[in-house]
Amino acid sequence: MRIIDISMPIHLGMPVYNNREEKKPKFTITRNFENDSGVRETKIELDLHTGTHMDAPLHMIKEGQDSSFFRAEDMIAPCRVLDLTNVEDGIIKEDLVKHGIKQGDFVILKTRNSFAEDFEPDFVYVKESGAKYLVSIGVTGVGIDSLGIERSQPDHVTHRLLLGNGIHILEGLRLKDVEEGNYTLVAVPLSIRDVEASPVRALLLKE
Ligand SMILES: [Zn+2]
Repeated sequence: MRIIDISMPIHLGMPVYNNREEKKPKFTITRNFENDSGVRETKIELDLHTGTHMDAPLHMIKEGQDSSFFRAEDMIAPCRVLDLTNVEDGIIKEDLVKHGIKQGDFVILKTRNSFAEDFEPDFVYVKESGAKYLVSIGVTGVGIDSLGIERSQPDHVTHRLLLGNGIHILEGLRLKDVEEGNYTLVAVPLSIRDVEASPVRALLLKE
């Protein structure tokens, strides 16, 4: 079995949304070998939307469900990686239709984003018509290789459509070396209570 890590490593120089300073992780070494009892311990300060993470409805919907929304059975599950590297701007219904997505699929959208090492302000995202199509089919989740599943759409309509219909959103994937096809997804968020997102270590398994 092949295991492909599709997570973004968390480190000081990692790309973050809009290159915002407050989105960058901070590491504080709280104990070290020189000053303490011969151990090293590190504290991390991490925006929950930095790196590979999953959004809960509460991210975009005031009365939406918090991290209790995350269903492990949907994240250790068969998934389909779709090659959308030809899409220039945003993913629309027509880009998705030809892939024969079925109800219950967890779809992973590979785009040109995976080939950029730095944050790109014009990253490829899922447009409203693409989100409506995915809702109409009834996928269980959508993963994408951008730090946000949308940009510059009024009222965050893509997030609202997906999250409002119980569809998981997995953001910040790295898919450069992944080919289109069927895999098993393992992408379980940390169990953090009462929050609107959580970091995820995402893997693809191939028999
Ligand atoms: Zn997010």
